[in-house]
Amino acid sequence: MKYLLLFVVAIVGLLLHKRQRALHRQPPSREARRLRPPEPMHACSHCGVHVPASRCVWDAQRRPYCCAEHARQG
Ligand SMILES: [Zn+2]
Repeated sequence: MKYLLLFVVAIVGLLLHKRQRALHRQPPSREARRLRPPEPMHACSHCGVHVPASRCVWDAQRRPYCCAEHARQG
């Protein structure tokens, strides 16, 4: 019975801790979003899916691809 009480107290403490963290987490402010410029998107040369520039796979001719497999297939 003692362990059941400890278990319940631990669960309640964990739930309260998670709730506090959720309440303190806030979305980025308008100012923070404004300071980060949008990332350019490129269409995959194989399938046409748009991919952020930082995640593109580039071939020797500097054509963007969504993944290494599509870059290999051309
Ligand atoms: Zn692709």
